[in-house]
Amino acid sequence: MSRLIVISNRVNPPADTAVASVGGLAMALSAALRQENGLWFGWSGKVTPRFSNQIAIQRIGGVTVALINLEQQDLQEYYNGYANKTLWPLFHHRPDLVAFERSFDEGYSRVNQRFANTVFPLIEPDDIVWVHDYHMIPMGKRLREKGLKNRIGFFLHIPWPAPALLTTLPRHQELVESLFDYDLIGLQNEENANSLIEYILQVADGKMLPDGRISAYGKTTSIKAFPIGIDAREFMEASTSQKAREYYELMRYSSAGRKLIVGVDRLDYSKGLEERFVAYDQFLRNHPDYQGNVFFLQIATPSRGEVNAYQSIREKLDSMSGHINGEHATVDWVPLRYVNRSYRRDELAGIYRAAHVGLVTPLRDGMNLVAKEYIAAQDPEDPGVLILSEFAGAAAQMKDALIVNPFDRETVAEAIREALAMPLRERIARYEALMHGVVTDDVVAWRDNFVRELKSLDQNNKPSVVS
Ligand code: ADP
Repeated sequence: MSRLIVISNRVNPPADTAVASVGGLAMALSAALRQENGLWFGWSGKVTPRFSNQIAIQRIGGVTVALINLEQQDLQEYYNGYANKTLWPLFHHRPDLVAFERSFDEGYSRVNQRFANTVFPLIEPDDIVWVHDYHMIPMGKRLREKGLKNRIGFFLHIPWPAPALLTTLPRHQELVESLFDYDLIGLQNEENANSLIEYILQVADGKMLPDGRISAYGKTTSIKAFPIGIDAREFMEASTSQKAREYYELMRYSSAGRKLIVGVDRLDYSKGLEERFVAYDQFLRNHPDYQGNVFFLQIATPSRGEVNAYQSIREKLDSMSGHINGEHATVDWVPLRYVNRSYRRDELAGIYRAAHVGLVTPLRDGMNLVAKEYIAAQDPEDPGVLILSEFAGAAAQMKDALIVNPFDRETVAEAIREALAMPLRERIARYEALMHGVVTDDVVAWRDNFVRELKSLDQNNKPSVVS
């Protein structure tokens, strides 16, 4: 029987989805794998002094996982280095933050090769292989070099940059060429798919074929948008659970009749948190009548603390939150609560449900699952309003949100006012349209669409080198 083999950098299925506090990719993949006969291969999160190709096979939260450890040098060069200091900022339109070191590049190649060597013996002839995200772009090529003939698909969870940006990356051609060993390449939306296609046509002298596939470097592949979703049913259930009710009550009690605006993000420069704080400050200045009647809860979980850019944004936000409260607070009102910890999903669901406004304003984001979770958690009879950045992948699907340019603080400040004052009928109409999309285009639809497409394709590429 054919299995789905998922390969990603980090393997961390939640043992219990309600209490989990893991990132978007982990939630999506575990939801996708739980109903499919499969295996999830990747890094355990543990670091050992020396690399060993020993694999630990376990069953966690209904998912079979195969885990390997990384050594310290891999962590620095591949994970903190090429993945998070080179590709992440570049793909999120921050060339000013890109660091490029030869050692990062070498670490990235080495870890991809080690992953390929270790997973290869686990793959059986009928299996479908699905590789995920920017850490693993060359994985398909490495597996083909070992002789793997199976169908291999790739999905990128983050944005694909415009060609002019990508060409600033040393050896960009090699990275793009390695994509051609996949049978199917999935991106979050049409804009990202078009950016990749444009690069292939302009920089790599590629050609679109009449059947919709694209060829370059003597190979062909297919590129398509597959917008990722959330496990909407699970999140709706979480939002009416006992724990969610407790958190809902807690928020309503502690807000003492004031309206609540919420933001929930990993503490990352791509999330636009500085700009969001500036816009909220602007809103308070523009609308003194709201002073004392509203408060903003920003939950920002620290991540990637070993990368400098993350330390500096953390310091900046600490200082900005102090300033905003210093400027506007009164003896009985604090306008901004800034919290640096993570919450269980059922707790988060209760917080979302209590919030009159969900403020999701990344400067650049592959999709942004928080926007979808916020909608799934709302009370259908008295829903809150979503304010969403036009630069989140989700904006292409969630057109009934208040769509804003996160760089424009006056527009965001005005959207906050509009959301707080929106009549119930309009809130319900927008919520119903958004909820329809969240439920229809959920994570199961995303997985099924991708896997179905991968299975239906004529196989494009035979192994390039057989060793
Ligand atoms: P990214 O994958 O870049 O972090 P997404 O918005 O796509 O961004 O996914 C973030 C995921 O992490 C969501 O499922 C969200 O609920 C979760 N998350 C973010 N912040 C927290 C937090 N403080 N506590 C618990 N979960 C969080």
